[in-house]
Amino acid sequence: MGPATEDRDGLVLSGHMDVVPAEEPGWRSHPFTLTETDGRYVGRGAADMKGFLALAANRFRAMDPASLRRPLALLFTYDEEVGTLGARRFGETARSAAALPRHVVVGEPTELRVVRAHKGMIRLRLGFTGRAAHSGYPHLGKSAIEPAARAIVALAALREEMEAQRPAHGELFPSVPFVALNVGTVAGGSAANVIPDRCEAHLGIRVMPGMTVEDVAARVRAAVAAAVPEPFTLDPVSESPAMMLDAAAPIYRMACELVGQRETHTVMYASDAGWLARAGFDCVLFGPGSIEVAHQPNEYMPVHEFHRGGALLDELIRRRCGAA
Ligand SMILES: [Zn+2]
Repeated sequence: MGPATEDRDGLVLSGHMDVVPAEEPGWRSHPFTLTETDGRYVGRGAADMKGFLALAANRFRAMDPASLRRPLALLFTYDEEVGTLGARRFGETARSAAALPRHVVVGEPTELRVVRAHKGMIRLRLGFTGRAAHSGYPHLGKSAIEPAARAIVALAALREEMEAQRPAHGELFPSVPFVALNVGTVAGGSAANVIPDRCEAHLGIRVMPGMTVEDVAARVRAAVAAAVPEPFTLDPVSESPAMMLDAAAPIYRMACELVGQRETHTVMYASDAGWLARAGFDCVLFGPGSIEVAHQPNEYMPVHEFHRGGALLDELIRRRCGAA
């Protein structure tokens, strides 16, 4: 919408359309029927992040294109929750990316704080292979679980080592100023009387801006190899890059000015902004609702915050796109 400009001025409003499953017990209303109670809109995705999508789509709908001097665009993505797949694909394939405005608001729920940095998330799969056998004849088999267990102990030590370190940009994340490693799942074996031939662990690692999958995988590989003589596989499953925007970036300064924010806010979760930043966009996270109610039963968006978010977006659009 609106004329393209050489300097890619204008504004993009971006959000993911997928939500996490709503199978938790404890929902007091149907998770997929938006319900208004006690000043809250309740439903799966109310905060993360269909509320923002509704605001963005309705800003667009109410807009008179003739009033825009610079472009306003919507960028809605898929499969953010399973590893920012849609944003990654957009960044890697969309030839139109270079035609879009450079300045992006990703409307993740930040309680209307302007966030210019977040950590990244790297998922790795660690695999051990043994030889299955009847457990009454142990000399015929080889356990895959035993070396996996030693590897997990080594990864716990690596976790502690990393918690004591303060890598570059750690100061942006004062509550967790280190790389956080989590052994999230372990699966192996089929029955108590069978020697297990396969064991697999999934690791999730929250990294600082600038850290690559290769850096992280190399540390994990070294820690496991030092503790376990058996061969193993280590494969990347997905990557959501960290994001860090310069404090002088126009979109950051304008959004901070709009809400009167002077201090720096950052978050520990990854978002589409990591891939969009790699594709050359200037991104801030800025949206109504709280991440603390996301992925929980009775997820909600405060009604007053929703409307305030809409008014702030109107003003941001007016300033960035020159709507009359
Ligand atoms: Zn989200």
